[in-house]
Amino acid sequence: SLCWHGIQSRLFSTTKTCMTIMPAWVIDKYGSNDVLRFTKNASFPIINYPNEVIIKVCAAGLNPLDVSMRGGYGAATMSMKRDPLNIKQAGSEFPLILGRDVSGVIMECGLDVKYFRERDEVWAAIPPWKQGSLAEFVVLSANEVSHKPKSLSHTEAAAIPYVATTAWSALVNTGGLSKDNCAKKRILILGGSGGVGTFAIQMLKAWGAHVTVTCSQNAEQFVKELGADHVVDYTAGPVEEPLSALEKFDLILDNIGGDTERWALSLLKPWSGAKYVTLITSFLQNTDRLGIADGMMQTAATMATKALKHLVKGVHYRWGFFAPSGPALDEVREMVDAGQIRAVVEETFSFSQVPQALNKVEMGHARGKTVVQIS
Ligand code: NDP
Repeated sequence: SLCWHGIQSRLFSTTKTCMTIMPAWVIDKYGSNDVLRFTKNASFPIINYPNEVIIKVCAAGLNPLDVSMRGGYGAATMSMKRDPLNIKQAGSEFPLILGRDVSGVIMECGLDVKYFRERDEVWAAIPPWKQGSLAEFVVLSANEVSHKPKSLSHTEAAAIPYVATTAWSALVNTGGLSKDNCAKKRILILGGSGGVGTFAIQMLKAWGAHVTVTCSQNAEQFVKELGADHVVDYTAGPVEEPLSALEKFDLILDNIGGDTERWALSLLKPWSGAKYVTLITSFLQNTDRLGIADGMMQTAATMATKALKHLVKGVHYRWGFFAPSGPALDEVREMVDAGQIRAVVEETFSFSQVPQALNKVEMGHARGKTVVQIS
């Protein structure tokens, strides 16, 4: 007899698995760590489109976004992405599975998938509106997935995709950097010791840029070992003072936000195309607070005002966003397998320790990444 999953899989995929449930950590409402629930009965993912693949999760990387999403951050925008016609009831996202990074093995391919086969080892960053990797299986579009670097274990590989695709989107797509135009550029990374920072330092050094980094004093050695040319300790006093004594920068990547916008743009070379790209934006807060339409209007107005304010001073103000991308991860894989970028895993947890792992991320002061080993 055929289960529903079996019927659906027969329509769109090459194999005929008939599993209906799987183990996962889920949340049934937004809140603090106590909303996390382990279940053996989470719905098994279904291939709904012929370009999708089902991945058996070996390791799941965590990000600050998982902690924010557990608390409901971005819920308005994510439910619009999941249900654009708004036909489902409020709360239909539950039970929700967190976890944005996956390294694992392809278990099933949709009929149109050409680039992957069953048993391929892959890695991916999972868009926040899709079910996450704190589960035994996850379904993704093939264009979000990439073959995993051969030189990394699954645990190491799961530390990279989300921060790498975010850094790629911010530095390459928004910042205009590439491996061919970085050689003479001076880059400043505000917040170098966390997930995005540790990846961005290595990528920019591999491309030949001169990299200055801010971090806590006790992370100085750590970021230097990753390649940072110059390190400024932000705990020693107002960090803008030592920074403004330095030669001006071609690009600033801001992983910190807050009041950095007040002074950071004056550190850029004016009238040279120099850009400030911040990952700390008010987009999701606006849509959570005001709803989709008004939130987007508010966001557009804020961004336009800020961009214009800085443009008249000869520097560019931009917002950077995570963007899922298999092709970007293909390029990152080459750099990893060439020994230019290593995974920076700070701590690993077992599948039974997911609450402790999220707690670790929530405590802050990351020195690289937190990874959960699933199978
Ligand atoms: P992490 O938590 O991994 O790292 C943050 C790091 O910043 C920690 O190492 C922390 O260490 C350090 N830090 C804290 N305060 C300062 C400061 N004032 N100056 C310099 N360093 C500081 O976060 P991620 O790297 O994963 O992400 C960075 C930020 O970017 C997060 O806010 C995240 O939400 C955001 N983000 C946004 C995305 C988007 O699409 N817009 C996508 C991905 C991330 P310590 O406190 O010990 O100094």
